[in-house]
Order: sequence, then C-alpha cells, then structure tokens
Amino acid sequence: MKRVLITGGAGFLGSHLCDRFIKEGYHVIAMDNLITGDMRNIEHLFKLPNFEFYHHDVSKFIHVPGELDYILHFASPASPIDYLKIPIQTLKVGSLGIHNCLGLARVKKARVLIASTSEVYGDPNVHPQNEDYWGNVNPVGPRGVYDEAKRFQEAMTMAYHTYHGLETRIVRIFNTYGPRMRLNDGRVLPAFIGQALRGEDLTVFGDGSQTRSFCYVDDLVEGIYRLLLSDYAYPVNVGNPAEITIKEFGEEIIKLTGTSQKLVFKPLPTDDPKQRRPDITRAQELLGWEPKVSREEGLKITYDFFKSLPEEELYAAAY
Ligand code: NAD
Ligand code: UDP
Repeated sequence: MKRVLITGGAGFLGSHLCDRFIKEGYHVIAMDNLITGDMRNIEHLFKLPNFEFYHHDVSKFIHVPGELDYILHFASPASPIDYLKIPIQTLKVGSLGIHNCLGLARVKKARVLIASTSEVYGDPNVHPQNEDYWGNVNPVGPRGVYDEAKRFQEAMTMAYHTYHGLETRIVRIFNTYGPRMRLNDGRVLPAFIGQALRGEDLTVFGDGSQTRSFCYVDDLVEGIYRLLLSDYAYPVNVGNPAEITIKEFGEEIIKLTGTSQKLVFKPLPTDDPKQRRPDITRAQELLGWEPKVSREEGLKITYDFFKSLPEEELYAAAY
C-alpha cells in the first residue's frame, strides 16, 4: 500500500485530497495544526485503519515513522482574511514548512507536490495567465506575505529538484470552491452565501468589475492527482477558465439563493487582482485534464452544504 503525507489535511482542499487518496487505496497521513482547519472535515476517516492524523505545526521539524511515497504540502492559510490575520505564520509555513517537507522527502525518497497558487501572478499584466508569466507581485503590500511565501516555496522546491534530484511537482491552483469551505473565511463565495442565508446584503468590493474564475473542488482534485502521477516538475495551472466579474457572481448567488437582498459596494482591498483566468493548455496537453463541473452545478452542491450547517455557525460567521 502506497503511503502519502498530506499537510493541511484538515483544511478544505487537504480533506478532499485525503478522501481521494483513501478512495484510491493509499495509506493517508494527514498533518495539521488546525489554525484554519476543522477536524469535522476528516472525522469520517478516523475509523479507517489506513488513515492517521498528526496534530503538528509543519513549520517545526517533521517526524513521520515508516516509509512515505508522496508528500503533498497543502498547509497554509489561504484566504486574504486569514493571511492578513496571521502573516508571520503564513510566511513560515511557506518557507520553513516547505523546507521541512523537502528534507523529509529526501530522507524518505518520496515525491513532493506543493500547493502553489494563481497569486504568484499577483495583479497580472498578462491575461489569461500561463505558466511562463513571471507575475506582478507587490512584496511589501498586504498580500505579499502569502504571494511571496508561495513564490519562495516554488523556488525552494525547484532547487531541491535541480540540486538534490528530488522528484517534485508544482500545482498553481486558481480560486477553488466547494463543500467544507469555512463560512467565515472571508473568501467571496462563503461571504456571499453566508450573507444571503442571514438575510444581509451582499458586499461587493470595489465596483465588482474585477474577475475571477472558479473551479469546483472535485475537478481540482482530479487535476492534482494526475499531476502527482505525471513526470512533469515545472508549474502547472489547474483551474476553471470560465471567468466572471464579481458583480455578476453576486447576481448569480442572489438568483441561486432566492434572497431578496441586494448588492452593496465596499472599498476594494489593496492590491486586489483586477483579472484572473487560467490558461490551462499545459494541463490539457500533459495531463489530459480539463474541468467538468459547471459553475451552476458546483454552486448548487456548495449551497446545499452551507444550508445544512447549524444555524449558530451561520450567525457566528457574520463579520
Ligand atoms: P484551508 O485554510 O482550508 O486549509 C489549510 C490547512 O492548513 C488548514 O487545515 C490549516 O489548519 C493548515 N495549516 C496552516 N498552517 C499550518 C501549519 N503551520 N502546520 C500545519 N497545518 C497548517 O485552505 P485551503 O483552501 O484548503 O488551501 C489549502 C492549500 O491550497 C493552501 O496551501 C493554499 O495556499 C492552496 N490554495 C488554495 C486555493 C483555493 O482556492 N482554495 C487557491 C490557491 C492555493
Ligand atoms: N470580494 C468581494 N466581497 C467579499 C469578499 C471578496 O467582493 O465579501 C472580492 C475580492 O475583493 C476579490 C474577489 O471577490 O476581488 C475574490 O476574493 P477572494 O477573497 O475570494 O479570493 P482572491 O482575491 O484571493 O482571489
């Protein structure tokens, strides 16, 4: 049985990856310090003999007994609200955390896949973004703690590949959504759905003309799984190219939830990227991958998830 370590395993994406690797017959070790994660995301796995959980901060030395075939480094605060609240931990998990994972991988002779992000492109001057674009990031702006940690993480991973011959993979993830997102993580989808469910107006930042391209979580997991098993060490974008303005997205959520509330406009956060859409040619050619789930379908499943949460949680998430 192949053994995989998933850091950030109790988070949104990490927990979906745990599910997928369990389904594929792996022994899965999830590691998480729960700083933004939630044990409820993985509690259904605890009864399985091929699942283990380590409560550990990966910015500190990592010890895992036994062999490891793969390490997926997904630990990191991921929403602007989170990484603005805990900027130093964000920088540490992207730098010290990946160093620990790469060191562990050398000892175990394991392959490492890192969760990078479309944020490495910053506020992009090239549209759509392909992997050869180097990005437009403000290192000292509020988002710099996340963007630069991820850029460092890519550089460190590539250095281990080049200088130590380690097998590495880099996935640049574009905005992904689905069940198990946190209602109060500040990202636009949980924010809008939470507001609609509480009967509040939906807060659009800026004039809402900025764009994003939203990928359903199952599609992302499929892309990551294929990339891990490929032999390609350079970055690969995985995301859904269906681009939409945030204003239109708000209107879609109003329609989906049937709320009688309206859009209200708030100041745009500093350095908020104006446009974002992945060029997925590389993923299509190398991995034969492209997204399958439409926004309409994915949003419906995600809305059902948020509706099923206890009411206290819904109101605790108001901010
Ligand atoms: P999340 O906050 O739900 O999950 C992150 C997990 O990492 C949490 O469980 C958290 O407790 C854990 N963690 C954070 N610091 C840690 C540390 N020092 N030690 C151990 N565990 C730690 O966020 P997510 O959306 O699931 O994101 C997962 C990864 O994917 C992140 O690396 C993020 O940068 C990347 N990513 C996500 C998206 C997206 O749209 N969701 C987009 C691009 C990149
Ligand atoms: N956004 C918004 N209202 C909110 C939360 C976010 O208009 O309540 C905007 C935000 O300014 C950005 C877009 O939605 O332009 C996506 O934000 P998110 O935090 O989800 O992701 P990111 O900016 O990291 O892509």
